[in-house]
Amino acid sequence: MNCINCKGDMQEITTTFKSRWGDYTVTIQGVKGHKCDQCDELVFSPEEARMVQNITAGFADSQVKDKPDLINLQETALTICSWIDYTIFVSICVPLFMVR
Ligand SMILES: [Zn+2]
Repeated sequence: MNCINCKGDMQEITTTFKSRWGDYTVTIQGVKGHKCDQCDELVFSPEEARMVQNITAGFADSQVKDKPDLINLQETALTICSWIDYTIFVSICVPLFMVR
């Protein structure tokens, strides 16, 4: 995979991503992406971007009082939930996370 900016080599990395949905901001750890060796351009796959959006929107829209401000994808069941539909995510995965 080559960089869209400078055509440099891109390495797969795991990073921390700050995501926002409305008034809700959450830091998500363990997001996989590709980073350019030369210019530091960061690219996420559509699946990964959708997952981050699902998680952020899911918690933002949920009725729970104590929404997490930090989520580690490698430590939670959310990784499994992340690949499914947004509506399913909200009904199954948000409650699942909250009982932990
Ligand atoms: Zn580059």
